[in-house]
Amino acid sequence: MSKLQTITILGATGTIGMNTLDVVARHPDRFRIFALTANGRIDALYELCHRYEPTYAVVLDADGAERLRNKLKAAGLGTEVLCGIEGLEQVAAHPEVDTVMAAIVGAAGLKPAMAAAKAGKRILLANKETLVMAGSLFMQAVKTGGATLLPIDSEHNAIFQVMPTKVTDTLAESGIRRILLTASGGPFRNMDRALLEAVTSEQALNHPNWVMGPKITIDSATMMNKGLEVIEAHWLFNATADQIEVVVHPQSVIHSMVEYIDGSVLAQLGNPDMRTPIAYALGFPERLESGVGALDLFKIGRLDFQQPDMERFPCLRLAYEVLRLEGTAATVLNAANEVAVEAFLSKKIGFMDIPALIEATLEQATISEVTSLGQLIDVDAEARETARTWMLEKVC
Ligand code: NDP
Ligand code: MG
Repeated sequence: MSKLQTITILGATGTIGMNTLDVVARHPDRFRIFALTANGRIDALYELCHRYEPTYAVVLDADGAERLRNKLKAAGLGTEVLCGIEGLEQVAAHPEVDTVMAAIVGAAGLKPAMAAAKAGKRILLANKETLVMAGSLFMQAVKTGGATLLPIDSEHNAIFQVMPTKVTDTLAESGIRRILLTASGGPFRNMDRALLEAVTSEQALNHPNWVMGPKITIDSATMMNKGLEVIEAHWLFNATADQIEVVVHPQSVIHSMVEYIDGSVLAQLGNPDMRTPIAYALGFPERLESGVGALDLFKIGRLDFQQPDMERFPCLRLAYEVLRLEGTAATVLNAANEVAVEAFLSKKIGFMDIPALIEATLEQATISEVTSLGQLIDVDAEARETARTWMLEKVC
């Protein structure tokens, strides 16, 4: 690819956003930053505007946008500041943009990712919640919009790397038997169920292998992250629940595997550093230098594998269940999980209340066929309400 790629980074101030900028900064001849977005970290976004001089910066709320506008003006910078979901959608779909890194956390990332899909962009998708919440509609928008979808999640990026370049309709038609989705198992991989009840958010935020934002770090501790990734793999690779097996692999060196019908298992290995999948997607189909060091197999010494324990980590079981239920079930799971993680982080509920709250919300929800984005947004709001009510009853 010789042309300068113009990029919007949704969620620029987050872990994925910053890693993307790290890779982009290594290749100034290939990439130009068009827009950067944030939620509350205005000072961090200001620093990024100073360094990358994007055409646009977007902040979710109007007050934050005004604050950024004043700071940029005082510094004599010409970046234009937009606000709200409309601003995010605008920079995701703008005609000058080639590539959109979708790295907002949670359901908030859905609308701008949809806008990029409809506008036919090259989408680097980190925001897995988009696929969990609205997989069928998003994949449809990618198809009709003529967008190119490249997975950023390390596991899905690994699968993408070891799949045949031309993936046909079903895995079977590509000669694939199964996807082996690796999981670190998180910080509580071997902890007794009784002890899990008492773990704190500080303990849960201490991931053994990856440095990530708080929401996905808690998701990793509950193994909901792997559950969300099972659903993500379903949509990205047209795989059924039975074709996706989770393999706990504590070293996080193998980022996932694909098993073919002839018995071959192809894996992608590397250091646990998100700059590898980001560089792969930024450069695709070419390879780019990412800043990630060589894998030292002698230092690693061994690779271990375990079966996941769905009793101690019920979130993984729930994710498989909603995938089999289809319809709006995954939207409910995602919404309830976001409420539960937020409540756990603010110490309103305990660690094992997270799966309990999600299960209770799912039990109360009416699962129906997916018809429109508006319907899913209503389902999401209703599930959040149910989850909050459950929490109030539990706390009182
Ligand atoms: P972070 O929490 O580090 O960053 C999230 C970004 O989204 C920040 O820029 C934040 O802005 C912005 N943001 C948060 N809430 C909103 C909102 N309501 N509206 C608009 N913007 C918002 O998350 P990560 O970078 O860790 O994760 C981002 C996504 O990538 C998640 O979906 C995660 O599951 C996925 N992912 C992350 C991986 C990782 O290694 N971190 C690996 C694989 C997937 P501000 O900084 O101003 O709050
Ligand atoms: Mg992952």
